[in-house]
Amino acid sequence: ATPTALMVGTGRSAKRGVLIKNGEVLEAVNHVDTVIFDKTGTITVGKPTVTDVVGDMKQVLGVAMALEANSEHPLAAAIMQKGQASHLTNNAQVNTFKAIEGKGVTAFVDGQAAFVGNIKLLADYTISEELRDTMMTLQNDAKTVVLVGIKQAVIGLIAIQDIPKETSKAAISALKGRGLQTVMLTGDNQRVAAAIAKAVGIDQVIADVLPEDKANKVTEFQQQHTVAFVGDGINDAPALTTADVGIAMGSGTDIAIDAGGIILVKNDLRDVALALDLSKKTFNRIK
Ligand code: ADP
Ligand code: MG
Repeated sequence: ATPTALMVGTGRSAKRGVLIKNGEVLEAVNHVDTVIFDKTGTITVGKPTVTDVVGDMKQVLGVAMALEANSEHPLAAAIMQKGQASHLTNNAQVNTFKAIEGKGVTAFVDGQAAFVGNIKLLADYTISEELRDTMMTLQNDAKTVVLVGIKQAVIGLIAIQDIPKETSKAAISALKGRGLQTVMLTGDNQRVAAAIAKAVGIDQVIADVLPEDKANKVTEFQQQHTVAFVGDGINDAPALTTADVGIAMGSGTDIAIDAGGIILVKNDLRDVALALDLSKKTFNRIK
């Protein structure tokens, strides 16, 4: 490879908002047949908002706020915002707060064991048939549902929506037009993930993946395929470095940007196809 051609090629890409950090990704791009996407913040806008509170609104949001005040998760921010918009104040006593990755948060609220999170935290709690049905209906509607439990019982649900980016559908269809397989990888629930994948045209969904397992899923695909992974979060860094081509959104966390071999400066998901095209052109010019 001639370094000059590489610099010219990557310089041209940079002008179009595609930063190619090293020459190593260029060869891999020629073999990419599978593009795996993170969901939250990559396919979706990444600004979840509460759409429904099921149960006694004051009590459900009250317990949820007490717990989520201690969490950094985007779902926590959505719940706090809803609580504030509903003019609820959070003055409960919270002890022994724990954040459990990919599952939710637990603590003692005013001396009572409580949790906010998904069904994986349900072991010590009972849930009514009715709430379970409502949960599934909301999930089929592409809403992430968190359960709110206190004193061994689920007292309500909070549904949270994070809509797909306007460009996601076109971005996916451009890749499929190039003969690439598309996959979504997420810690969210299967029903929610499937509904969002369907809306944007993604072929395959792998849901309920714990953050530490994202990179392992990429490795599994690599047995048969050459993989590009597209992500934006702290959680995505291992998957970005494991993939043959790691593509980070410019709006992503610093850790994701560091881990990516290609950065999409304009945060336009349609630039995944552009990045692959430009990399191929540059590679063919230098080889
Ligand atoms: P993603 O892959 O979409 O970024 P995460 O791995 O961060 O998802 O979280 C997966 C799931 O874990 C969430 O959809 C939610 O059900 C649950 N969860 C994680 N953190 C919290 C929290 N602070 N409050 C409520 N639920 C949470
Ligand atoms: Mg993300």
